[in-house]
Amino acid sequence: MRHLVTVRKIDDIVPIEGADLIVVVKLDGWQCVAKKEEFKVGDLCVYFEIDSWVPHDVFPDLSKGKEPRIYEGISGQRLRTVKLRGQLSQGLALPVGMFLDRFEGSKFDEGQELSEFFFIGNDLTNFLGVVKYEPPVPAEIAGQVEGQFPIFIKKTDQERCQNIVYEIFEENKDSRYEVSMKGDGSSFTGFNRDIETGVCSRNYHLKINDDNANNTLVRMFIDSKMQQVLAEFGRNIAVQAELMGPGIQANREKFNSPKLFVFDIYDIDTASYLPPTERLDVLNQLYKLGLDSSLVSHVPILWNNVTLADLGVTNVQELLALADGPSMVHPIREGLVFKRLDGKFSFKAISNKFLLKGGD
Ligand code: AMP
Ligand code: MN
Repeated sequence: MRHLVTVRKIDDIVPIEGADLIVVVKLDGWQCVAKKEEFKVGDLCVYFEIDSWVPHDVFPDLSKGKEPRIYEGISGQRLRTVKLRGQLSQGLALPVGMFLDRFEGSKFDEGQELSEFFFIGNDLTNFLGVVKYEPPVPAEIAGQVEGQFPIFIKKTDQERCQNIVYEIFEENKDSRYEVSMKGDGSSFTGFNRDIETGVCSRNYHLKINDDNANNTLVRMFIDSKMQQVLAEFGRNIAVQAELMGPGIQANREKFNSPKLFVFDIYDIDTASYLPPTERLDVLNQLYKLGLDSSLVSHVPILWNNVTLADLGVTNVQELLALADGPSMVHPIREGLVFKRLDGKFSFKAISNKFLLKGGD
């Protein structure tokens, strides 16, 4: 579960020209607009990341007098990327004091101190009843479910660079990366494990049966011959790819039929991702066994074996600026994914231009 709501420190406060009541506050790699008198530099706050679905009772002001909307049975609002008074604003920072009442109520166990909740990094997502907003799953890929996503494969999530500034710019200062384009589609996983093959959407293992014959993920697994070649190849691996095509997200690449773009291969036996070079090598072996290269390709690699310094990037702002740029055919791509060459550390940098245009 992602930590959508965390306690953070206000690192900086920047005035907005011509605005008396609001300021920009900066926390880790994020910035958002807040009320001027609410914070001083160094204050703790409760920060809600973009895509938080915030229950109405947590912060009624979000609905601005309109009826709150319903998502997964929760009346509330989604936090998106916006510009306010010309300033980029992502998420919501609220003073810790706004939540004291909640801790005095039934949820506050006797003997617990407030400092047990309000320390930097503490995750308050569940406590405040916040869930992650996910765009609706297109009918093309919904299908009949065999079960949950297999526990022996890692889900395809990437951490946002804004949340791991220290890891990126201190711990991995000299690390070398493969940088690939982030495709704006839907996650596909096809696997072989011992005598079993299977195909999964982002969250579910799908049935391979007649009822799912028109499910795009299942069809791609079979039509591209991935199922067959993974079984023949015999290693316990999962090929993870972005499905792009008609009806999936905004289909910004304007494909007239579905395509898979491989971005990772997971080694089930060692429970780790193959390093990028080995991933490309295995993919080539799968092509030799008959994997259909007109349906399955590798996601575009924009830079390989580079450090952040090689890319002229020294901070989050520069990293996010690099994320802005064209996709295969669209002037605005979703962003970039950085994968350390050992396959053990990765993150995403989503283009703010993409988010401001309403991208999910
Ligand atoms: P998000 O959907 O924003 O949570 O980001 C993670 C997802 O990005 C993964 O689940 C993949 O489906 C997708 N993705 C698209 N392109 C890439 C890429 N080049 N590397 C890794 N993941 C990617
Ligand atoms: Mn996505």
